[in-house]
Order: sequence, then structure tokens, then C-alpha cells
Amino acid sequence: MSELRDEEITIEEQKVIDNTKTAATEAHNTVMSHAEENLSALRDESTPEPEPEDLPGKNKRLLLHICCAPCSTYTVSRLRDEAYTVTGFWYNPNIHPYREYERRRASLQEYARAVHLPMRWDAYSMPAFLRAVAGRESFRQRCRICYWIRLERTAREAKSGDYDTFTTTLLISPFQDQEAIREIGEEVAEEAGVGFHFENFRRGWSGRGRLTKEHDLYRQQYCGCIYSERERYGGGDISELWERSSVGG
Ligand code: SF4
Repeated sequence: MSELRDEEITIEEQKVIDNTKTAATEAHNTVMSHAEENLSALRDESTPEPEPEDLPGKNKRLLLHICCAPCSTYTVSRLRDEAYTVTGFWYNPNIHPYREYERRRASLQEYARAVHLPMRWDAYSMPAFLRAVAGRESFRQRCRICYWIRLERTAREAKSGDYDTFTTTLLISPFQDQEAIREIGEEVAEEAGVGFHFENFRRGWSGRGRLTKEHDLYRQQYCGCIYSERERYGGGDISELWERSSVGG
């Protein structure tokens, strides 16, 4: 008798277990279906990842004017992410004195080797820079000339090397006049008959700092020319000195 009651209780218990399992499965399915709906809504709202064939640099060769190794770090990586085939170009006759120039050049040489960046190197035509800015040494005035000298040379190099487009690492620096660089880049590109790639690389400024430390690259203390060196160490705007000078008077 007691065995029969035990069996009846077991059957009842089984029914309860079965019902519980069914309810649990239904609840699980409902939760999963809501989660799937939420995920697909999120996918719809998010910006779709560009397909490789949509990347702007696909099948394009780009010549990158490089002002220094630190500014090339983020810029090269960003352009490669955009699928450009990047070659670096060194042309900076604005950097003085010579030993500072050599130090920056050597640092870039080392970095280019580390990241397998092909490079083109141009000569150090310091007199061309000094002649071009003579009498126009004030800040911004000389900088426009400095941008023009370097970008015009890069545009010609890009054209003769059959590149699709060119750009410059100067666009990463918050200390440079980005609008002037853009304007001059577009102007010299048109004259040379080659494309100019404008991009606001400044968003990578903190990445530049991180990569510079990681690769232990040389970090210069002033922009490049002798005038910027004087201004960096408290000498004031060079044009004021010229105005006061007996030579200039
Ligand atoms: S401050 Fe920099 S950008 Fe301006 S002229 Fe000197 S080196 Fe060129």
C-alpha cells in the first residue's frame, strides 16, 4: 500500500517537473527572441563597417610628405587602415641647424625601417628655404611659404613617381595652420596634375604621443626653422627683432 502511494506521488511529481520544464523553455525562448530583436536593432542603428572595396585608398598609391618621425606614426597607420599603399617622402629644408636636421632624419629612417615604410629622400636645400622667407620672417607669413616649398616639391615628386595622390604629416599637428596647408596642398596638386588627400589627422594626436613613446622616437623641442627655435626659447617674434635692427633700418 505504501509502495503504491509512493508511485502515485512520483507520477504527480513528474507532472509538476514536466510542466516546469515546459514553462522554463518557453520563458528562455521568449528572452532569447527579445535579445535577438534588441541586437538586430542595435546592428541597424550602428554605422556599418566599410567593406574593404569601399575603403578610399583601395588600389591607390599615396606619397606622404613626412616632417618628422613622431608625426608619421599615427598618420602612416591611419592611411594604411584606409587601404592606401603608402610611401614616405622626406623634404624639409626648413629644419635648422644641420645637426638637428640629421637627428630628425635619422629618427625617421629608424622608424620607417621598423614599420616597413618605403621612403624617398630628398637633399637638404637649406639655402632655398632661407632665400624664400627672407624679409617675410614673421610667424605665419613664413609658415605659409614653408608649407608651399615642401608641398610643391612633394606634388612634383608624386607626379613624377606616378602616385595617385599625396598628403602631409603636417596635418596632424595642432600647432600648424591646417587651413593654410589644405589650401596650399590643393593649389600645388592642381598645378602638378595629381590628387591631394586632405584629412584631419589631428584626431590621432594622442595616438601619435603613445606610439612615439612606444618606439622611443626623438622628440624635437621646436618646429624646425631657426626662427621657431628662437621663439621656442623665449626670443619673441623674429619680425620685432628685424624692425628694431640697425641692419634692417
Ligand atoms: S615655424 Fe615651422 S612651419 Fe613655420 S616656418 Fe618655421 S619650420 Fe616652417
